Amino acid sequence: MHENKLDKESSAQDVNDWAIYKRLLAYVAPFWAAFALSIAGFAIFSLASVGFAELMKHMVDAVNGDNTDARFWIPFALVGLFFVRGIGSFLGNYCLAYVANFVVHNLRSDLFNKFLTLSSSFFDQSASGHLVAKITFHVSQVTGAVTDAVKVLIREGIFVIALLSYLLYVNWRLSLVILSITPIIAWVVGFAGKRFRGISSRIQNSMGDVTQISTEAVSGYKEVRIFGGSEIEKSRFRKISNYTRQQTMKMEATIAVSSPLIQFITAFAMAVLVWLALSPEMIGDMSPGAFVAFISAASMLPKPLKQLSDINAKLQRGLAAAVDIFQQLDEQDERDTGVLPLDKAEGRIEFNNVGFNYIADRPVLKGINLTIEPGQTVALVGKSGSGKSTMANLIPRFYDIGSGEILLDGKPIESFKLKDLRNQIALVSQQVTLFNDTVQNNIAYGSLGGSSLEEVKAAATAANALEFIEQLPQGFNTMVGDQGVLLSGGQRQRMAIARSLLKNAPILILDEATSALDTESEKNIQQALERVMENRTTLVIAHRLSTIENADKIVVMDQGEIIEMGTHTELLAHKGKYATLYRMQFSDTELTKPPTAIDPASGEAK
Ligand code: ADP
Repeated sequence: MHENKLDKESSAQDVNDWAIYKRLLAYVAPFWAAFALSIAGFAIFSLASVGFAELMKHMVDAVNGDNTDARFWIPFALVGLFFVRGIGSFLGNYCLAYVANFVVHNLRSDLFNKFLTLSSSFFDQSASGHLVAKITFHVSQVTGAVTDAVKVLIREGIFVIALLSYLLYVNWRLSLVILSITPIIAWVVGFAGKRFRGISSRIQNSMGDVTQISTEAVSGYKEVRIFGGSEIEKSRFRKISNYTRQQTMKMEATIAVSSPLIQFITAFAMAVLVWLALSPEMIGDMSPGAFVAFISAASMLPKPLKQLSDINAKLQRGLAAAVDIFQQLDEQDERDTGVLPLDKAEGRIEFNNVGFNYIADRPVLKGINLTIEPGQTVALVGKSGSGKSTMANLIPRFYDIGSGEILLDGKPIESFKLKDLRNQIALVSQQVTLFNDTVQNNIAYGSLGGSSLEEVKAAATAANALEFIEQLPQGFNTMVGDQGVLLSGGQRQRMAIARSLLKNAPILILDEATSALDTESEKNIQQALERVMENRTTLVIAHRLSTIENADKIVVMDQGEIIEMGTHTELLAHKGKYATLYRMQFSDTELTKPPTAIDPASGEAK
């Protein structure tokens, strides 16, 4: 199965190769001066190395002849060559490292920046482990290619060319023997390269799985232990890790075969070379010095050739990773075609016949019509899965609607600049995301970063969070830990509410914002929230109906449709779905009271 896959990958690879090189080169382009300097450095290095062969010629000729000058200038030349070679080596290595590390840095940053502009549906479809692996593993593969591999490629490549040119210059006929093996070597290198590329992309994929499984086991360690998942996780991980091992071994086997093979081919050529060189006609043609120089230059060849074949694997690994990274960079961004700027919206939201589906042919919202006037509070209630969160997600355009339109202040939300639109909205959701930073920086997150401590404090007070924050070891400077693990669920939610209060946006979306709070705290928060809602358009999604009784409008959703709409009193009088839901919840909370208190009439009278 894998071999077939490999074939397919190889043919696709031939077509795309040039495109990948061109794109990688585009990353190198801004540093062309340093890159050119590096190539010049390596050229100096190689020429100086070849110079040793030439020096050898003069030395041997000096031994044979009576050239006394040689005794003086050869030692100087020797030291001089080393000096020049050293400078070349420094320039080559340093400048290349400079370029390579910038390329990696820019590539990694581009990849990270892409995460910030990708669409919500992309995240829905991708495993986070695979995305993280791209930044950690894939980028390091490219690093290997652009630092080590390119270095060897340039340094040894120039060296081989210089050696071959020198051999041609000393004796072109003999050199043809060496040149005749280059197509064979090229074929071996090319064949191995294709194999490396195929294996590499499989290793990359499995590294994504390794990251995914590890993060799941780490972040979900409680579930894993309580539900006895340890064995399953262990075997899942073993399987994928073993697969990575097998693929890596395939790669190593290819390296282990191809490198000696190339050396053997070279040795074969050398044998023919020596046989020919020692023939009487050849010897007669060359001076002893030229002969020794030729043999020393020829014997310098196998080493760079071996290095070149060895880095092939690294180069291909980098290219395979680059393919994956570029694919990610080519993913569609969120659509942001709006041009209208929006400073401060009034906050009138209209849903006109809105339809939406995440997956084709499976409508999640159908014919939604709803108007929220500026400053009004509208509550969405209904069974889980009825589409409430989806409606809330459409307003900041996390997803684009399928049909109909959503208007903000009378204009379609798509016509506004996405950033400006989102600036109008503060969101508190069920899942509070806290960053591994201080309490203060978590409340004053993102564009709120410039807020003063007084403003942050005021927001925390209004969110009923000041008390617990002041009891933390370092108050507002306490680090909250990964995802805020050092705080309770209710504390985290109050932090999120404080963050939204600080944003002071004209539209507020509360998606089960108080679900993690106990009744006591919820009451306190409720007062705070009501104060905040006063002059804002608010969309509340709430489970506990007691918290939304005062809403201007209550919308009851069922299977993606609005089935009832009105105020609390209207809906109770209507005796429909809402009245039933309300009575059910009311009786839940009043269960401890005497049976008479469960009378539905008392619920309505309340
Ligand atoms: P509610 O907030 O009322 O509980 P949601 O709006 O979250 O309901 O979900 C409505 C429906 O859409 C559900 O059937 C759910 O399975 C589906 N759904 C929610 N989010 C996604 C998503 N990202 N991709 C695909 N389907 C989704």
